[in-house]
Amino acid sequence: MAKKKVLFTRGIHDFAQKDLRRRYDVTVHSGKMPMPRELLISSVAQADGLVCFPYDVIDKEVIDAAKNLKVISTYSVGYDHIDIKCAKSRGIRIGHTPKVLTNATADLAIILVLDLLRRVTEGDRIIRAGEWKEIYGPLDHLGVDIAGKTLGILGMGRIGVQTAKRAKAFGMNVIFHSRRKTSSRHGEYVSLAVLLKKSDVLSIHVPYTKETHEMIDLAKIQKMKKSAFIVNTARGRVVKESDLIAALRGGLIAGAGLDVFESEPISGVNELAKMPNVVLAPHIGSATAETRLEMTKIAVKNLDLGMAGKDPIYAVR
Ligand code: NAP
Repeated sequence: MAKKKVLFTRGIHDFAQKDLRRRYDVTVHSGKMPMPRELLISSVAQADGLVCFPYDVIDKEVIDAAKNLKVISTYSVGYDHIDIKCAKSRGIRIGHTPKVLTNATADLAIILVLDLLRRVTEGDRIIRAGEWKEIYGPLDHLGVDIAGKTLGILGMGRIGVQTAKRAKAFGMNVIFHSRRKTSSRHGEYVSLAVLLKKSDVLSIHVPYTKETHEMIDLAKIQKMKKSAFIVNTARGRVVKESDLIAALRGGLIAGAGLDVFESEPISGVNELAKMPNVVLAPHIGSATAETRLEMTKIAVKNLDLGMAGKDPIYAVR
């Protein structure tokens, strides 16, 4: 019997690919940029299973072309890049990789908070540019204390909670906002208006949805303290990037730490990359060896289960 066909839009760990090739007819896109749309559409047309990444747009057109598709296994917790309603209406199962990347992403959020408040990357850039020419005096290159500052978490889910726990260990006060009013031993629930007003650092952890599209725009930033920072490790389009740039330029906020962007990858010519008070990371929230290994295992398991007509271990419902 002919093997079922599986399309990977990007290679994953060798051990997993080798194992999968025994069971399936595997096609792996070899490029390091997202599959060109036409290629994605023509390749998915034959596939029974698809393993994709957050930058692959799996919309109605792609799903329409995928007549045999039984399962979409995304190598991410976020599934904003997939038309879930459309996929479900065709009986396609969808799996994602929550939980295993929670700690790594919360770590990165806190790394960005600490870096911004203590200006570490900014100092690194000064040294590398050969511009550290004088011994700094008592009033040079000052950051601000971390203990006692208020961290505002937008989206107190898995990653939000872990970020809150880490912030508390540094002596920060934690407040948070989600749609559902909940209590947490890791922080105090507040309205969005209070979150914006009181946060010294706003750390964003909501998924990207119609509701959160450009949720943080100029009007919201204007409600924040001028001394406040924004950290975004969720999705780029939760923040209106042009408004963030305008706010940073106008001194409406003190700085930003960003792992995600409206359109990725960004380059050194991006306005954000020219600002000393902005720390940038190339979408590395889940990028640790241990986490990526676990993500591979789950993505493969989700794929296998979906191919067998069963629900993925982490199913998007
Ligand atoms: P999660 O457990 O589902 O948490 C999301 C939280 O956001 C929930 O508490 C939810 O609570 C809240 N929320 C949703 N919509 C909201 C809205 N409109 N306003 C306010 N709060 C809202 O997800 P997670 O595992 O923590 O992951 C969060 C996101 O991080 C993912 O969706 C992904 O996009 C991103 N991420 C990025 C990286 C990276 O590499 N940078 C890595 C992992 C994850 P309510 O439903 O009560 O509102």
